[in-house]
Amino acid sequence: MGEAKRKKNAVLNGPCPCGSAKVARICCFNGCDWHKVSAVLGLKSLPPASKVERCYMKELGSCVGPISGEHIISESVCRVLMADGDFSISGLPWLEAGEEKIIAPPTAKCLCVKHNSALHPLDDAAHYFFASLKSYFETDTASRHALVSGHDIERWLLKTAKAAAVSKNFARGRERLSGAFSQDDAILNMLDDPRQWPDGAGLYCIMNTGDTTVNHPRFQLQPLTNDQDDIEALAFNILGLGFVLLLEPLDTSKHPFLREAKYRPGRIVISYPTSTNWITMSWDGGKVHEHLTIQFVQPVRPRPSSA
Ligand SMILES: [Zn+2]
Ligand SMILES: [Zn+2]
Repeated sequence: MGEAKRKKNAVLNGPCPCGSAKVARICCFNGCDWHKVSAVLGLKSLPPASKVERCYMKELGSCVGPISGEHIISESVCRVLMADGDFSISGLPWLEAGEEKIIAPPTAKCLCVKHNSALHPLDDAAHYFFASLKSYFETDTASRHALVSGHDIERWLLKTAKAAAVSKNFARGRERLSGAFSQDDAILNMLDDPRQWPDGAGLYCIMNTGDTTVNHPRFQLQPLTNDQDDIEALAFNILGLGFVLLLEPLDTSKHPFLREAKYRPGRIVISYPTSTNWITMSWDGGKVHEHLTIQFVQPVRPRPSSA
């Protein structure tokens, strides 16, 4: 057997980088491409039950109470971000624009326990994504590979933004926003099924080649609104990387800054002098997606302790 074939067989029979604990060849690798299938939430096929007043999915008629009091940002993701006790968030009503603060993430009571648990596969995907990204940024060991469904990450970001919006945690300056989305009627469909996202809607990386960033345990979200103050996109900073999640069809005359942005990156490559780490983001539709490459420059000096 040739060396190339031996290597390929080792990958085919090795653990799948999606974290499923299955062998890659029966999970997400066909010998040529990696593809993680997006989570099936089945929001529309839950058995009929009741309507819990404060649940934003009550129109589905499948609520099971009580209302659950969850962190706006999933607890598992918060734990990853807070590992070293330093977690910042911005875009909240009590902060000036651009101001950021280290706080415990706010909670929202906006989903019944049934619908909250129906979204858990997205929390799991986000936890895996954040934990991998953080560890690849912080340690240069051997080359590593993680695989996520990009659609699951997009839907988790949307779920997080929806929770922040309905609990009135969004603001411009110090003024609270109503929390309405321009596509409000479509949000449930978009959470349920990636095929319901309009053409050109989704995740854009807004970093340019040559940009330098600092890896902070940071998660920032800021709504981008239209003239009616309805939310039509969200800006995110994820551990120092800038993204926009567009919820409408792409119109570059309205959002010129997206013209040069990378739409749905196929891979985040974090390269060190001696190792390369990949987070593959798989997307349905068979299009080619550009890679986002991040090169390690230098370690960040630890912050002086306040004690
Ligand atoms: Zn897999
Ligand atoms: Zn509900």
